[in-house]
Amino acid sequence: MGVLAGRLTGKTALVTGGSRGIGRGIAERLGRDGARVAVHYGSNETAAKETVTAIEEAGGSAFAIRAELGVPGDAAQLWAEFDRQAQGLDILVNNAGIGVSEPFATLQEEEYERVFAVNAKAPFFVTQLGAQRLRDGGRIINVSSGLSHASVMPHLVAYAMTKGALDVFTRDLSKVLGPRGITVNAVAPGIVDTDINADWLRAGDEAWANAASMSALGRVGAPSDIADVVAFLASEDGRWVTGQWIDATGGSLA
Ligand code: NAP
Repeated sequence: MGVLAGRLTGKTALVTGGSRGIGRGIAERLGRDGARVAVHYGSNETAAKETVTAIEEAGGSAFAIRAELGVPGDAAQLWAEFDRQAQGLDILVNNAGIGVSEPFATLQEEEYERVFAVNAKAPFFVTQLGAQRLRDGGRIINVSSGLSHASVMPHLVAYAMTKGALDVFTRDLSKVLGPRGITVNAVAPGIVDTDINADWLRAGDEAWANAASMSALGRVGAPSDIADVVAFLASEDGRWVTGQWIDATGGSLA
C-alpha cells in the first residue's frame, strides 16, 4: 500500500515502546498522519511486528527497532539500529516505561534503580543522542503521568518520582533546544487500559468501575486518547506549545 498523504507526510518519527499499549496507539496515529514510524521495542518482537503490519495495512510506513532500555549503552544501541533504516528524525516520542511492583515500605534498591534507569535515565540519553539526528523544527514528546502532579496513588511514589524527573527534563530541554525551533512537551495520561496495569485493572468489574470513576468523563482511557494529544503536539498546529505538561487524564486530577 502507498503512504498516506497526511499532515506529517515526509516526516520520520521514533516512538520508544511503540510496540504495545500507549506507544502502539501513538505509532499507529503518527503513521496514519503520514509519518514514517520507527516502532521501538525491548523484547517482544511479535508485538512490534504486529504494530508495523497494522501501520502498513492502514496505508502507512513503519519499521521495527530493538533496544533494551535501562542498561548501559542502551541509547547508542537504539540509534545504531535506527540509523540502519532511516536518515534523520523529525519527531521523538519517549514513551517506553515500566511501573513498580512494590509500595514505599517494601520497594528494594534494585527495583528503584531499574525504574529510574528505564523511565528517567533512558529518555535523557536517548534524547541526547536523538538531538543530533533531530532536524530543526522537530518535536520531542515525553510520556509522563498524572501521578507526577497529584498524589492519587501515593504508594507508587518511586514511579511518580521518575515522571517528576521527566517533567523537569521536559521543561529545561525546551529552553536548550528552543533556538533550533524544536518543541519539547510532556503528555500525562491517567489510567489507560494497557498491559502495564492489566493485573489490577482487568481483575474484575469493581476495579474497572473504580478506575473509570476517577475520570470526570467516567471511563478508563484508551491508547488513542493519548495518541491524539501527542499527534497535535507533533503537528504544525502544535508549534507554539513548548515546555508544557499536558494533562491527558480525562479530568482525573480535577
Ligand atoms: P505497556 O503496555 O507495558 O508497554 C510498554 C512498552 O514499552 C512496550 O512497547 C515495551 O516493549 C516497552 N518497554 C518497556 N520496558 C522497556 C525496556 N526496558 N526496554 C525497551 N522497551 C521497553 O505500557 P503503557 O501502559 O503503554 O505505558 C506507556 C507509557 O505510558 C509509560 O511511560 C507509562 O509510564 C506511561 N503511563 C501509562 C499509564 C497507563 O495507565 N497505562 C498511565 C500513565 C502513564 P517490550 O514489550 O518489547 O518490552
